[in-house]
Amino acid sequence: MLKRLRQKLRNNLAALEMPANPTAAKVRTLIPKCFVCERDTAGHRFATIASTVLSKVNETRVRAIYQHVEEHDWTALRDFTDFDGELDAVLVYAVRCSNHPGGMVLLISDPHELYAGPEAIRMELITDAELDIIASFVKDTDWQEM
Ligand SMILES: [Zn+2]
Repeated sequence: MLKRLRQKLRNNLAALEMPANPTAAKVRTLIPKCFVCERDTAGHRFATIASTVLSKVNETRVRAIYQHVEEHDWTALRDFTDFDGELDAVLVYAVRCSNHPGGMVLLISDPHELYAGPEAIRMELITDAELDIIASFVKDTDWQEM
């Protein structure tokens, strides 16, 4: 009985096929399904396109990053590369798929404490033309398999 249960658990874990890349695993947990093709996001690619830190003194930039995502002002995001390992992060990811046009942009909060998981704050659907704008300032090598 126990042996069968263990085997079943092992099979279930294998079926999850979580990627080895921890960031890819995190993004897949946040967005398991693609809102464009309604399939599993496995096989899609993502890139971090902007980042800032969540703190009182940085409130203006946090509001700005949110507003740029809301208004689809992707070029404005290229100036957001702030990082501080001691502070919670606000990150923007772009998700694309080679099997369909368009993709998604995801704004998340990523607490620096390990016990607190990341949380999706806002999701926007984007067109191929918008993906081209994003790709103009994101290196080809920054796109990772999910
Ligand atoms: Zn898709």
